[in-house]
Order: sequence, then C-alpha cells, then structure tokens
Amino acid sequence: VNRPEHVIIVGGGLAGARAAQELRAQGHAGRLTVIGAEPELPYDRPPLSKGVLAGVAADDTTLEVAWDQLEVTLTLGRRATGLRPGGLETDRGELGFDALVLATGAQPRRLPDLPADTALVLRTVDDARRLRRELRPGARVVVVGAGWIGAEVATAAAAARCRTTVLEAGPAPLAGALGEQVGALTAPWYAAAGVELRLRAAVIGVEPGAVLLADGSAVPADVVVLGLGARPDTGWLAGSGLALDAALGGAVAVDEHLAASWPRVVAAGDCSAWWSRRFGARLRVEHWDDALHAPAVAVSTLLGRPAVHDPVPWFWSEQFGHVLQHCGYAAGADTVVPRGDPTGPAGWSVCWLAQGRLVAVLAVDRPRDAVQGRRLIAAGATPQVARLADPAVALREV
Ligand SMILES: Cc1cc2nc3c(=O)[nH]c(=O)nc-3n(C[C@H](O)[C@H](O)[C@H](O)COP(=O)(O)OP(=O)(O)OC[C@H]3O[C@@H](n4cnc5c(N)ncnc54)[C@H](O)[C@@H]3O)c2cc1C
Repeated sequence: VNRPEHVIIVGGGLAGARAAQELRAQGHAGRLTVIGAEPELPYDRPPLSKGVLAGVAADDTTLEVAWDQLEVTLTLGRRATGLRPGGLETDRGELGFDALVLATGAQPRRLPDLPADTALVLRTVDDARRLRRELRPGARVVVVGAGWIGAEVATAAAAARCRTTVLEAGPAPLAGALGEQVGALTAPWYAAAGVELRLRAAVIGVEPGAVLLADGSAVPADVVVLGLGARPDTGWLAGSGLALDAALGGAVAVDEHLAASWPRVVAAGDCSAWWSRRFGARLRVEHWDDALHAPAVAVSTLLGRPAVHDPVPWFWSEQFGHVLQHCGYAAGADTVVPRGDPTGPAGWSVCWLAQGRLVAVLAVDRPRDAVQGRRLIAAGATPQVARLADPAVALREV
C-alpha cells in the first residue's frame, strides 16, 4: 500500500486527539499535523455541563495525550477555511497534505438574527467558565430548549439557587431524542428541583432582560442560555465538492469505513455521519463514546486497511440527580416497552423494538440495563415483551 507521508488532522477535540494517537499506534511514520481552532490543548466536554458548571470539578479537562512522544505539529488557534484535493486553506495560509482526517466537531445552534452576546451557549471551556460566573443565587436564568444540554444547565442553575425557567417549544423535555411520551417522564424532575418548565413555548427573540415568546408574552431573564442542539462544523467545506449530508445537518458523509467521498479523506466524531450496517441508515452520532472509538477505524482506513465502524451508539446524561444512559437507534421502532416505575426509587428503563428486534434502550438510574441492553442490541436479540417489561428479570435473561 502506498502510505501517506503528510497527514493533517483538522480539529483539536477528542476525535482529533484520538486520531493523532491512532495514527502513531497504527504505524504512520511520516509527518503529522493537527490544526485546531481553539487555543486550548484538546479537552473533554462532558464535564463542562456537569461538574465544571456546578463548580465541583476542575475546569481543566485536558485530555491525557503524550503530545511530545507523538511527534505532532500541533497548531492551535488556527482554523481551516477551505479544502481542495491535496490542499487545505487556513486562516494562516495553505498547507499541502497526502491524507486528511476531518474532526471539526459541532457548533451550538443559535436563534436566527440574535446578536452573539445576547444569549450564552455551552460548547467550549470558555463558555462553561462564563456561564458558571453567571449562575449566582437569585439570578433569573432562562434556558431555551429542554434537550440534553438544557436539562443539564437547568440542573446546575437550580443547584446554584438561581430562579430557573426552561422554555421548550415541543410538548415534552427530550421529545426530539426520546419521543413525547418517554420524554414526558422526565418533566416532574423540573418541578421537584424548583425549576419552572414551560412547554410549547416558542421563543421568537431575546432582548436585554427578557426572552420573547410567540404568544406575545415576555419572560424576565438576567441570563439566557440556548440549548438548541448543535450542527456539524462543516460550513468551511461547503463548495469544496466533498460530499456533505444535507439531511443530517451538513455532516461529512462517510461510509462504514469512515471514508469520505474523496480518496484519502476520512472523518470521525461530531462532524461526521457514518453508514451503519446494523441499522441500515446513515447516523449522526454526537456522543463522546463515538468520538473516542471512531478515529481508530478512520485511521485504519486511511492507512490502507479499511475497518468497519458499526457500534451500538451509547451516551449518558446527568440531570436532576439522575443518570440517564441511552444506547441504540430508535428511528425504525414500532413498539415501546416501559420497564419499572418512573416514580419509584429503583430506577426505570424503556426499550424500543423494531419488528421484534431490540433497537434502543433508555436506562434511568439502572446502569445494568444500559450495559446489558447494549449487548442485546449488538447481538440482534428478539426478546419477549412480557419479560422485557418486568424489571425483576435482568435484561440479559429476556
Ligand atoms: C457541554 C457538553 C456536554 C456533553 N456531555 C456529553 C455527555 O454527557 N455524554 C456524551 O456522550 N457526550 C456528551 N457531549 C458530546 C461530546 O462532547 C462530543 O460528542 C465530543 O466532544 C465530540 O468530539 P469531536 O472531537 O468530534 O468534536 P469537538 O469536541 O467539537 O471538537 C472539534 C474541535 O475542532 C475545532 N474546529 C472546528 N472547526 C474547525 C476548523 N475549521 N479548523 C480547525 N479546527 C476546527 C473546534 O474548535 C473543536 O475544538 C457533550 C458536549 C458538550 C458540548
């Protein structure tokens, strides 16, 4: 195989850092350059909306990577701005490459026409530090969006004794991710934490001191935080000719080997959408676990040994004193099976089936269900619904 001499990794997050490690571990002996737009060494994001925001964890979440030993040219604070075959444009000039790993992650969605400093978002360590300073007792904090990040921010705000309101356009928290009925099971957590949750509340604007709703009312706010999800950070690739998946937010379209539409270009992590053999669909998986593991496959492919990326997606969230874990992909599900009492102390789960096959599991304060459920999904299990619904039966026994 004709091995690449100079490999460039674009993006200095978890996926970019893991790609650098894997390139050396898998035998790339040539030049290796990482271009990262943020000034920080690659760091972990999940703690930012949890311990860091709550002020109980250090805000230095730098990944443990032996950069010196990897012999990487690490160029931080530099942004890629355009791509053509063999050439990467950056805000500090163009670079040539033989092979490319795209790992530019995602950017928080904002409201259209909203000046950047009117509302905060949470993606970077800087965002987390700034938001933490604003979470003062008594401050009126309005979180727009009851998705994963919104719920975690509301949790931290309530713990900091802020007067917290969450505005959600949909019919339930997490409705986009879990569906209305399952998402609704988390709604009581808000009131229990002293957080006001307003559903079907469509935000049309933010002005100093208030969030404006479509029904003409205004919600007073000292701090506004947007939790509207994220979109792949691939705007700089538009017009390059590299295939992006418009239906999945413009993510870099890659196959099951994580190969992009050009030779010697691969992508991994939040910026990408990969073809899942298991689910027969292209998935955009914005999870830490995927950014951790996909780069090994992408690098193998890049070095001429195409591997297959086909995990059961998995992630977790910590909100209102609960640990949620979700695994699988529920898009094609036809049956939803609740497991355990959502109001009881022992935790509960929900299983999704498609034509009898287990395709997704949500486990709330039931870590074993998450681990065992993920294995069942991986094995293509077709469990009995009655046993699935019985929380006394271990998932691995169903
Ligand atoms: C607050 C928060 C909490 C989270 N909590 C969880 C959780 O509990 N569980 C879970 O599974 N996942 C969680 N996630 C998601 C997880 O952090 C992401 O899936 C993961 O960070 C993806 O890694 P990545 O390397 O693909 O992208 P990123 O971490 O976004 O890194 C991409 C990097 O590339 C840089 N970049 C972008 N464009 C360019 C360019 N043109 N040129 C150069 N550099 C560029 C960016 O600045 C960034 O530094 C959370 C995310 C956030 C923001």
